[in-house]
Amino acid sequence: MKIQDTKMGLVEFEPIKEGEIGMYVCGPTVYDLGHLGHGRSAVSFDLMRRYFIYKGYKVKFVSNYTDIDDKMINRAKEKGISVEQLANEIIPEYIKDYTALGIMVSDISPKATDSVKEMIDIISTLEKKGHTYVLDDGVYFDVKTFKEYGEFSGQKLEDLKVGARVDVKEDKRNPYDFVLWKFKKDGEPFWSSPWGDGRPGWHIECSAMSFLHLGEKFDIHGGGLDLVFPHHECEVAQSLCAFGSDAFAKYWMHNGFINIDNEKMSKSLGNFFTLRNVFEKYDPKIVRFMFLQTHYRNPINFSFDLLEQAKAGLERIRDCVRNLKFEIENSSDGGDDTGVDEKLSGLKSDFENVMDNDFDTSGALGAVFDLVTFVNTLIQSKKLTKKSANDVTSLFTDFDKVLNVIFEEEKDIDDEVKALIKQREDSRKAKNFAMSDKIRDKLKAKGIELEDTSSGTVWKRV
Ligand SMILES: [Zn+2]
Repeated sequence: MKIQDTKMGLVEFEPIKEGEIGMYVCGPTVYDLGHLGHGRSAVSFDLMRRYFIYKGYKVKFVSNYTDIDDKMINRAKEKGISVEQLANEIIPEYIKDYTALGIMVSDISPKATDSVKEMIDIISTLEKKGHTYVLDDGVYFDVKTFKEYGEFSGQKLEDLKVGARVDVKEDKRNPYDFVLWKFKKDGEPFWSSPWGDGRPGWHIECSAMSFLHLGEKFDIHGGGLDLVFPHHECEVAQSLCAFGSDAFAKYWMHNGFINIDNEKMSKSLGNFFTLRNVFEKYDPKIVRFMFLQTHYRNPINFSFDLLEQAKAGLERIRDCVRNLKFEIENSSDGGDDTGVDEKLSGLKSDFENVMDNDFDTSGALGAVFDLVTFVNTLIQSKKLTKKSANDVTSLFTDFDKVLNVIFEEEKDIDDEVKALIKQREDSRKAKNFAMSDKIRDKLKAKGIELEDTSSGTVWKRV
């Protein structure tokens, strides 16, 4: 299969060790709730991981939480809690959102602060090899000692512009030198190190965590496109200098941006959506489906219209699956199987061919919709046999191992909704109407509306 490597372009994917893949994906800084951009990145790499598993690879998936940096420190101060407490509050919220988006739990989700020892070890190695120097506020990486600096992001050192996330400091030898270790400031968390008390810089975190959990060399390093420079450029520089020129990630993959109504999403423009904002109105699986409709590298121009289209598209697929279930349960054994096997194996190859081409999910959904059309025609012409209905359902199930949007966990939803309805009835009997209203609202947030009829409460999806 082919994948798009950020530096090399479209290449044939060959794992370092046959049948096994190590993936490291840069995770969020856990100072606030996740936004649409976090959701898209997490879904993109989840999709890749699921497809590799579908193809029979054994995947070790590592994605970190950055739990120490300026944003963490400032937010903790504002809230009057420790940085550690802030991380402990926010990480479970990410897990909740990611689970709702159908993202598989990472094999390992390290926190940066758990790998400070490894960071110090790497900085010590860099120091021994002459790549660092010390200023009054920290230990810096000297980019001039790595002549390839800039190549990863396709820039020449002299053309680089100081921009976002490149610290300006006059006594640095070069404006692009970046901090590996920041000396302690009052009121900040700190660890001891050979250079004095302090905390790690941002870039060194991911080199240390990927090294700790995947070794010096691993298959795929991923993240959002905004991380190419300086974050990943710096990771490459320090890792290659520390571990050797053949070390670190074999492939680099980056997911595209999310714009809102053609503008960059940002808090200052007021067009900023947390995942939670969107989940209030839309089932998280609709949001996942919306992400999958666009190839992971292309930008998504988000709007609520786009979500409405995704909702309609997903509903069309789910309707088809429900009809199949009905046919399996109720139809008699008539019908005509002619040509069905060929059609299904053709669609399965279509799906795999487009996914083999750098995870083209919009093409993969094309194969899914072709299947929907085919099934609907069979049902309308009364040709669908029970065998075909079962075969089609298992093909949908195979597709959904990768896409994870089609099959709702009906049983879980049923059980949870039933439990909540029962709770609501009990509170009404106890005349606790505030509680009963609260439960109704809670269900509404899940897209479920209650109707009280003479024979009891019924629910429907809205
Ligand atoms: Zn990172």
